[in-house]
Amino acid sequence: MGTRGREIVGGKADELIALLNKALADEWLAYYQYWVGSKVVMGPMKEAAITELLEHAADELRHAEMVCSRIIQLGGTPVLSPKAWYEHTNCGYDSPEDPYIESILKQNIKGEQCAIEVYNKLALLSRESDIITHNMVLQILSDEVEHEDDLQSLLEDYEVMLQRRG
Ligand code: FE
Ligand code: FE
Ligand code: MG
Repeated sequence: MGTRGREIVGGKADELIALLNKALADEWLAYYQYWVGSKVVMGPMKEAAITELLEHAADELRHAEMVCSRIIQLGGTPVLSPKAWYEHTNCGYDSPEDPYIESILKQNIKGEQCAIEVYNKLALLSRESDIITHNMVLQILSDEVEHEDDLQSLLEDYEVMLQRRG
């Protein structure tokens, strides 16, 4: 832990560490939901969905790296077990019980919408107290907004295809 780096954050550090740990739990659960979703997804436009799901999985894992590094810089301990993901998560986990493309896309859109809310709140909270976390959160928030947009576009394409066929 860098002492002066920690010092400039001041009294907000513990609150930020706790919120970042909740986000870290979300990122791991999102990673697995995308990854396993890409393995089981079925239906029309499956190939396009697999590509998108795997890209997003890689992004969520990268977010986990970013958030974890910041927790450690702030002198915190990252969540240490998968069991703790469930205790800390904001957005939870939706198992892809129904592997049909439409259901998987809808589940992941819901997850992204939750992530957008979480990082938007964190962006507002860190703006005054912690510029480094603020900057990191802005980068992640842009990715989550892009993820939602990508999945909703894919779902729209899927719906257009159904209309044309029917
Ligand atoms: Fe993420
Ligand atoms: Fe995302
Ligand atoms: Mg994408």
